[in-house]
Amino acid sequence: MAGAIITGSSRGIGRAVARRFADDGYDVIINYRNNAEMATSVAETIDRETSREARVVKADVSDPGDAEALITTSVEELGSIDHLVNNAGIDQHVYTEQLPPTDFDRILDVNVNGAFNVTKAALSYLRESAVPEGPSITNISSILAYTGAPIECHYAASKAGLLGLTKSHARDFAPTIRVNAVAPGHIETDMTADRTPAEANRERQQIPLGRFGQPEDIADAVAYLRDAGFVTGETLNVNGGELMR
Ligand code: NAD
Repeated sequence: MAGAIITGSSRGIGRAVARRFADDGYDVIINYRNNAEMATSVAETIDRETSREARVVKADVSDPGDAEALITTSVEELGSIDHLVNNAGIDQHVYTEQLPPTDFDRILDVNVNGAFNVTKAALSYLRESAVPEGPSITNISSILAYTGAPIECHYAASKAGLLGLTKSHARDFAPTIRVNAVAPGHIETDMTADRTPAEANRERQQIPLGRFGQPEDIADAVAYLRDAGFVTGETLNVNGGELMR
């Protein structure tokens, strides 16, 4: 049976990706850092509404020991790891002048080091995968990797770093494991819930498709990359046309 780990999947984009994998026939690991109740509820819904199984594993991806334990437990639970989605991420809105170096480091620790830690721990298991589409890693970057952002320089830097990691790992792990990224634009989740209605309207007007994205829009992109056997080192931009490259 095929299995997938989605980091940070107790809510938002991670939850939608986990559900999509279960709908598509994969057993899934719901990884969370703090909110056990929410993670358990996601897993119970998957168990109830799909034909696949979900297991809950607590781990802070920025901690290499936690990342190793996440993988060891996941292998025990699933039997194999065939796909990894490095989705866990944090954001913070602060101007550079007010940004303490420790906060800068924390964003990079989770968003870049976290993906590195989990990938490194999962590597030997992914290499053993026998799924017909081949094993894959998908990293969730951001449109801000290209555009930058004045009040979240550390977040933008972390998401740009993730694209470098993606391409490097795509080369490192070829031809066995495909490694790609998705760069979402504005997706309606808790992460973007702090906008005032006026700010949200202004942002929406920049999007040719006239709406914000939903977590399921990103799940579609991740599912495509999971199955796209001749695509590696690529970034799929999912932003309603806000940035056309
Ligand atoms: P979210 O805040 O709802 O979800 C983030 C998840 O990551 C949460 O479940 C959180 O608990 C988990 N997480 C945070 N730190 C963790 C850690 N150290 N270890 C394990 N889990 C951890 O936000 P979201 O919008 O669903 O974001 C998911 C990913 O998509 C993030 O990487 C984010 O940067 C990226 N992204 C989001 C948007 C957007 O507009 N929402 C746009 C571009 C990229």
